[in-house]
Amino acid sequence: MKIFCIGRNYVDHAKELNNPVPKKPLVFMKPITALLKDNRAFYYPDFSENIHYETELVIKMSRHAKHIDAKFAHKYYDQIGIGIDFTARDVQSQLKEKGHPWEIAKGFDHSAPISKFKSIENFDVANINFSLNKNGEPAQIGNSKDLIFDFSELIAHISKYITLQKGDYIYTGTPAGVGPVKIGDKLEAYIENELMLSCEVR
Ligand code: ZN
Repeated sequence: MKIFCIGRNYVDHAKELNNPVPKKPLVFMKPITALLKDNRAFYYPDFSENIHYETELVIKMSRHAKHIDAKFAHKYYDQIGIGIDFTARDVQSQLKEKGHPWEIAKGFDHSAPISKFKSIENFDVANINFSLNKNGEPAQIGNSKDLIFDFSELIAHISKYITLQKGDYIYTGTPAGVGPVKIGDKLEAYIENELMLSCEVR
């Protein structure tokens, strides 16, 4: 089982971090040990002083996918959830400066809280509202219509290089509004009006 993540997939988020808007999907991976399930608490790691939340729609693959054309890609995933791509922004900035891979800033243990999943049949994939509240206040609001590369384009792109397998996750990128967490914060992520994921920072 693999976890793919997409960077800079919303224009407003690319701009807030002064990054260019990509011409192709920016793909990276997290190891399976990054997953944090069942609304468990996230423990602030000692190697960073600037952990950011990034709230992202996550699709779950339903079939083996290799070299899939975007127009058929909708047949290859069947569930949607929401996740947080925790990022050690200070560590990432140092790595980016040197042009180094940013795995440890993104793939550390429990850097990927994940919600329950729902059947994609209940949704119009081109118009899914999602949001994050931090301590009860709105922190991020997004809609899948604003994705630079939509779910199908992501599957087409990734499957050119790496075979997607049943059960793999794709964290599809974060909208604007990313920011730091501190110990004691409570994050709550919603798809439409349904609370899907809670995560307390300890
Ligand atoms: Zn992200």
